[in-house]
Amino acid sequence: MNDANNPRFTRRAVLKGAVLLATAVTALSGATQQALAGNKASKAAMQYRDKPNGKKECSNCIQFVPGKTPKAMGSCKVVAGKISPHGWCLAYAPKS
Ligand code: SF4
Repeated sequence: MNDANNPRFTRRAVLKGAVLLATAVTALSGATQQALAGNKASKAAMQYRDKPNGKKECSNCIQFVPGKTPKAMGSCKVVAGKISPHGWCLAYAPKS
């Protein structure tokens, strides 16, 4: 018996496998995007530091979420953990 006569290799079986594979790839891609959207970068990965880079600091970055007072630690939309208003990282983006 050659593969053409083998029921495991019918056109229907191949198409069914292709559809299942495409569905699995789509589902995995969605899960990956969701996971990435929910995670922030680590301070180390973004080379975060508690000191400004010249006049560039978190308090004038569009990603900064201030704390209760101007001097209080805040947070960042893209970097995990508590963030100093006088910190800085590679993702710095000035407010316009
Ligand atoms: Fe600070 Fe970087 Fe977050 Fe901007 S992106 S607020 S510079 S930690």
